[in-house]
Amino acid sequence: MLKDLRVYNTLSRNKELFEPLHPPFVGMYVCGPTVYGDIHLGNLRTFISFDVIYRYLMYLGYKVRYIRNITDVGHLENDSDDGEDKIARKAKLENIEPMEVVQRYTNGFHRELDKFNLLSPSIEPYATGHIQEQIQMIKELMDKGLAYETEGSVYFDVKKYSKDHHYGKLSGRVLDELITSERNLSGQEQKKNQVDFALWKKAEPEHIMQWDSPWSRGFPGWHLECSVMSTKYLGQTFDIHGGGLDLQFPHHECEIAQAVGVYEKEPVKYWIHTNMLTVNGQKMSKSLGNFLLPEQIVAGDHPLLKQAFSPMTIRFFVLQAHYRSTLDFSNEALVASRKGYLKLINGLKTIKSITYQAGDNPLNKKVLQQVEQ
Ligand SMILES: [Zn+2]
Repeated sequence: MLKDLRVYNTLSRNKELFEPLHPPFVGMYVCGPTVYGDIHLGNLRTFISFDVIYRYLMYLGYKVRYIRNITDVGHLENDSDDGEDKIARKAKLENIEPMEVVQRYTNGFHRELDKFNLLSPSIEPYATGHIQEQIQMIKELMDKGLAYETEGSVYFDVKKYSKDHHYGKLSGRVLDELITSERNLSGQEQKKNQVDFALWKKAEPEHIMQWDSPWSRGFPGWHLECSVMSTKYLGQTFDIHGGGLDLQFPHHECEIAQAVGVYEKEPVKYWIHTNMLTVNGQKMSKSLGNFLLPEQIVAGDHPLLKQAFSPMTIRFFVLQAHYRSTLDFSNEALVASRKGYLKLINGLKTIKSITYQAGDNPLNKKVLQQVEQ
C-alpha cells in the first residue's frame, strides 16, 4: 500500500500531494555534473539528496526510472552564451583530448558517489550521444517560429515565446527586468534580444568539439540536452525534475521554454530543487575558492578541518538538514554528526543482534558492513 507523500513543487511554490502520472511508475530526471573537474561537497549534497529521494520512492513501492545525465559538451563558462566550453578549455589547458577530460572526471564522479553509497541511476545519458536528437528539437522550434538563425548559430526567441507563455514562472524572474539588466553585455550582437539563449553555436575552426548541422559545424547549447534526454527516456511530460537551486535560472527556465515551445505542454509535474551548502554563511563554490572536495574531508586534509571523517559521517551530516534548507559546513558540525552517526549505528547493532536471533535480517547490507567497521 503506497503512503501519501507531499513534495514542495518549485513551480507552484506549494507542498503538493505526490501523484505520479502513471502509477506505480515514476520518472525522475536530475541534472548531472559537467565533467571538467572534481565534484565538491556542495555538488555531492545535491546528489545525496536525490539518492535519498530515489530510495524513498522505491521504498514506497514505486517503480522509478531515474535519469541523471553527464554534461560533456555545450556548458560555456558563463550563462549568457559567451566564453569557452568548459570541457574544451580544460582539454586545451592539459593538452589532452576532450573525451579524455570527460572520461577522467566521469570516472572520478562515479568513484566519489560509490564511496558515499549512492545508487546508480537507471540511465546515465551523455549529451554528445544525443546530438542528432538535439538538432531535431532545434528544427522543430524553428518550424514553430520560436528559434532563429544568425550567422550559423541558432537562438531561442524568448520575447516571441513570451507572447503566449510565461517565461520566468519557475524562477520568478520578470522578463522586462531581465531585458533591462542584460542590455549592456558585449559579444551578444547575434541575438535579437539579450535574453535569448543559444540552441546551437557555430564553432570557430580551432574549436575542438564540433558536429555537422543544417546551420553550421558547431555544438548544441547547454539547456537543450536536458530537454532532449528527459523527453527521450521519460516522455514529453514526466513526474520529477531535480537539480541544485542554482540551476533554476536560466537552465531549468529554458528547459521549460524549449519543451513547451515544441510539445505545447508542461514537461514536468514536480520541480524539486536542493539548497546550497555554505561555509561560514557563504555559498560553497569553485569560483569563491571556499570549496572542499569529498576526498579532502575523508583524508582530513584541508585548513578548515582538524581531523578526518568517514564518508558515512559526511553522508549523515548532509542528511541532517532538509534538502530545501541551507546547510553550513564546519569542523564542529562534522564532529557532532560523527557522534550522531555512531549513536545510530550502535542502535542498529543492537537491532541486528535481536533480528538475528529472530532469524530475520532484512537490513541493508552496506549499512551492516558499516556496523562491522
Ligand atoms: Zn540539466
